[in-house]
Amino acid sequence: MSLKPKFLKPGDDIYSVDRSDVDHTNGTTFVYNPFRSLSIEKQRQRLPVFTVRNQLLFLVEKYRTTVVIGETGSGKSTQIPQYLREAGWAADGLIGIAQPRRVACTTLAERVAEECDVILGKEVGYSIRFDDCSSPGITQIKYMTEGILVREMMADPLLRQYCVIMLDEVHERTLYTDIVLGLMKKILRRRKDLRLIICSATVDADHLYNFFNYNTTKDKSKDTACVLSVQGRSHPVDIYYLEETTADYVKCSVETVMKIHHKEGPGDVLVFLTGVEEVDNCVSLLKEHAASLKKNEGSILVLPMYGALTNSDQLRVFQSSPLGVRKVVVATNIAETSITISGIVYVVDCGFVKLRWYNSNSHTDALVVVATSQASATQRAGRAGRIRSGKVYRLYPEKEFEKLNEITPPEMVRTNLSSPALNLMALGIENMLRFDFPSPPPAKHLIAALDELFALGAITEEGTLTQPLGQQMAEFPLLPQLAKMLLVSGDFGCTKEILSIVAMLQVQNVFTIPRGQESRARAIHRKFQVNEGDLITLLNVFTSYIKHGETKKWCMDKFLNHRALRRAAEIKGRMERLLVTFNIPVTSSEGGVDAVCRCITAGMFPNAAFLHHSGTYRTVRGNQTLHIHPSSVLYSETQQQWVLFHEVLHTSQMFMRDLTVIDPAWLLELAPHFYERRTLQDQ
Ligand code: ADP
Ligand code: MG
Repeated sequence: MSLKPKFLKPGDDIYSVDRSDVDHTNGTTFVYNPFRSLSIEKQRQRLPVFTVRNQLLFLVEKYRTTVVIGETGSGKSTQIPQYLREAGWAADGLIGIAQPRRVACTTLAERVAEECDVILGKEVGYSIRFDDCSSPGITQIKYMTEGILVREMMADPLLRQYCVIMLDEVHERTLYTDIVLGLMKKILRRRKDLRLIICSATVDADHLYNFFNYNTTKDKSKDTACVLSVQGRSHPVDIYYLEETTADYVKCSVETVMKIHHKEGPGDVLVFLTGVEEVDNCVSLLKEHAASLKKNEGSILVLPMYGALTNSDQLRVFQSSPLGVRKVVVATNIAETSITISGIVYVVDCGFVKLRWYNSNSHTDALVVVATSQASATQRAGRAGRIRSGKVYRLYPEKEFEKLNEITPPEMVRTNLSSPALNLMALGIENMLRFDFPSPPPAKHLIAALDELFALGAITEEGTLTQPLGQQMAEFPLLPQLAKMLLVSGDFGCTKEILSIVAMLQVQNVFTIPRGQESRARAIHRKFQVNEGDLITLLNVFTSYIKHGETKKWCMDKFLNHRALRRAAEIKGRMERLLVTFNIPVTSSEGGVDAVCRCITAGMFPNAAFLHHSGTYRTVRGNQTLHIHPSSVLYSETQQQWVLFHEVLHTSQMFMRDLTVIDPAWLLELAPHFYERRTLQDQ
């Protein structure tokens, strides 16, 4: 059970959270199409955005920036690019759409290709990291991740190939959303013919409109930006608060749902909680209540909703319940903007959300549960007023609402900035402190990022990119530490090994542990384990996979995830080709492990931790207490004196994951400027 933290400010200490990830950025979301039985043409005309088609085309013609507000499912992502193409914009250049999530790029491109009746990868294509499915000269509509758009800007800072850029799902305000917003502002100043469309599912459009409106006079006719709203009809929503704070919002949400069921008229209920475990917990409590309802008390159907559910389980949430049965959907933040469920009349809002948060003192990222913002509370409440007037029950007292942040801090102000700093420098933006961000990040975070980049050898003391290392690191679509490892692997004579390790770090859930076969799976996994730690263990797994013919059967026998390994092999191939273009010799240590561990140290040295006499580990930077994560091969081993970690997970404690055992002498040898002798001897 999470306590009730106040909203964190960037750099504040962090609170404990449970193990599950931030849901809406993780899972794949099933797309529900209520009009699927109609012809494509009719389906397109039924979408709310169709009613503003001509108005939109007029505004895009007239204004350089158009902010489009419309709730999920209104047709923004699939229709707007097609309207532009139909109106002839594609004759002047590409129509590019940037998305925060990779899966959205592929599914949207597939859907739009189908609607346009063209082959995917021709007129309509997509480009995501390590996978470009577009044809230069032919493609007119291109979906891509925000990261890819930034990379395109590196190749052509004015994006001359494009006539329109659409930034989609801007309400998510990912790190790259903010970078792209800042960069687009710069580009628009230089290219008067370029058009920008910003799509958001939330109503806080003023900030973006102001950010892109260059008109400093009071004369509205000189505006360069405008806002278009595609909102369907929304009905008033009554707001109810608790009289006092609750210590257990899961229990409280169960009680609230039951109260609604007994006292209120018909209508479905949507409950917002922060993570998968809470959702599952709440669902089972509600099911107990549902089972004990008497005949004359009506019945309820309780369903969970989060990204990790299978498509068929997600589909159940969208289906209407039988007559006389009240549907109760218990969801993570995924239901705030990513999906729209019809029939909801009552919303129960726990008042919290799970976010990733960076601590610049300990240089660690963690997932934390924090109070929502007012904007987010309003958005959640709005889910109740779609079919008729609704009610929202906020599980906190009214006076708490006033204390909430106005908007949820965008990722830019709560994340490690070493990657974006490197990207921006490669784009010629050397003074990030003066860059026009929609929400400027804390200077403390920026300085920590520049420190790390300097230690990695990517930038000079003056803050410019080093040649060739810094430039090449910026061009590699990886975290700077991993890019560095790869780029120096030739010097250590272990390029192939590092390629395999880095590729394995890009995929998730390599080891599978089916229910009922836990001990067998673990015993088989143990055969891959080595004393050097998790990264070398991953290398072992990958090497064996290749040696045994990359087959699915072998993976199943070894309780390994075939899809993950296949993807790792694919990623390895692409990274290898990139290394070759940088003239890095592709060498192998032929089984030698020392060279590999030393090369890992050359990149990951900022993440060193040592065994403190208290029995826990401490980071060298920031003296943060850390524990070995139970999933690590080093978990139950005799504790090693020095380790490097790839990631920190903040749950009941701060855990480090993906470890490598090292000799501290390597730190002095490979990063002398970072680890002065004095510091290490003091430990
Ligand atoms: P928005 O961007 O406003 O959330 P979209 O353009 O993504 O809306 O989707 C509009 C509608 O198009 C959806 O509600 C759905 O009916 C249909 N749709 C979108 N993607 C798909 C898909 N991959 N398969 C089937 N239908 C889809
Ligand atoms: Mg969309």
